[in-house]
Amino acid sequence: MTLPSLRLNKGCETAMRRGMPWIMTHEIVPSSNLALLAPGELVSIETVRGELLGVGYYNALSHIACRVLAAKPNTAIDHAFFATRLREALHKRDTLYPDPYYRLVHSEGDNLPGLLIDRFGELLVVQLGTAGMERLWPVLLGAIEEVISPTTIVLRNDTGAREREGLVQNVQVVKGSVDALVKLRENNVTYLADVLKGQKTGWFFDQRDNRALIAARAKGKRVVDIFSHSGGFGLPAAKAGGTATLVDSSALALDIAQQAAGLNEVSIECIKGDAFAVMEQLAKQGRYFDIVLADPPAFVKSRKDIASGMKGYEKVARLACALVEPLGELFVASCSHHASRGAFNQAVMDGVRKAGRKAHIIAQTSAAADHPNHPMLGQNTYLKGVLLKLDD
Ligand code: SAH
Repeated sequence: MTLPSLRLNKGCETAMRRGMPWIMTHEIVPSSNLALLAPGELVSIETVRGELLGVGYYNALSHIACRVLAAKPNTAIDHAFFATRLREALHKRDTLYPDPYYRLVHSEGDNLPGLLIDRFGELLVVQLGTAGMERLWPVLLGAIEEVISPTTIVLRNDTGAREREGLVQNVQVVKGSVDALVKLRENNVTYLADVLKGQKTGWFFDQRDNRALIAARAKGKRVVDIFSHSGGFGLPAAKAGGTATLVDSSALALDIAQQAAGLNEVSIECIKGDAFAVMEQLAKQGRYFDIVLADPPAFVKSRKDIASGMKGYEKVARLACALVEPLGELFVASCSHHASRGAFNQAVMDGVRKAGRKAHIIAQTSAAADHPNHPMLGQNTYLKGVLLKLDD
């Protein structure tokens, strides 16, 4: 089948030849042909001279107008294509973790732009983020059946990013059934996730290594897990022999955390409320902790929010610092793609200073290895963490 061609402006092919998986609107030669394409249709990517470079999908509604699926001309985007990419993704994870609970496909990082798959054993949660991936879903589904053959597949197509692609939001169980919370194992802790109504896919697998980092220091310590969701950090800290206090505004997330605490035979304290207000309250009550960690939602959603987002991280660090015992530790994370590590560290250190404390950095962390970075999409990993030792 001949695909419609998408021609790159003169000079714009170098990035693609070097492996760049995105083509921006301004890099494309305007054509009446492209204007007729439905969002997400496959295109043959060519130089201005007509030399074929590869295959991608095009959506005029998105500023990333084309995402590259294969940097090889005439690649068929079919069952075999997806089966090969899924096997590669599976192979990468096979060597990482003892249990089948992880992010199986991380979009461009696994050469499948617009696709996220989180694996909870025999259950997969799939998120189609682009019109291109949505059009390819029937073929992709066939390949998932062949390579993974899960008992249950949930489509969590309820991410805001879909609107920018002209897609509607919905949640569907497309195979099997889900009638209870789903169990998962990570760092020898049993967690529970609500894969239908929980945030994102129901679980944040990206924090796995950071949770282990905190748990390793938690024995005999008082740990407060701010923005705890369902106890990702707090439960392993309790299991490691610390006392864990969880703070979150979501009653659902905290209820799940309590149920999971029972499964792990640990007890935890849960405080439901706005994290900023709760931190102020705890400080007023004179409650101190040996380890304070804060993993807020993304404060920087786009480039224009960088300044206000940084103020958010500064405030989190300032209020969190007030709860840290002298010589205690503070861990702050940012899942904002647009926040650079330097700016984030600066914001956290500004917060520490404004709290009247001093600190030095013990560790700087990022997302777990099942969230591979695409080498051409910047050195900035979206998830950044900084662990500080307070000097006094
Ligand atoms: N640390 C968690 C993930 C945190 S995600 C883990 O390891 O899994 C961010 C969490 O912040 C969500 O659970 C959300 O409910 C919560 N949240 C967002 N805004 C909040 C606020 N103002 N106060 C308290 N919690 C908030």
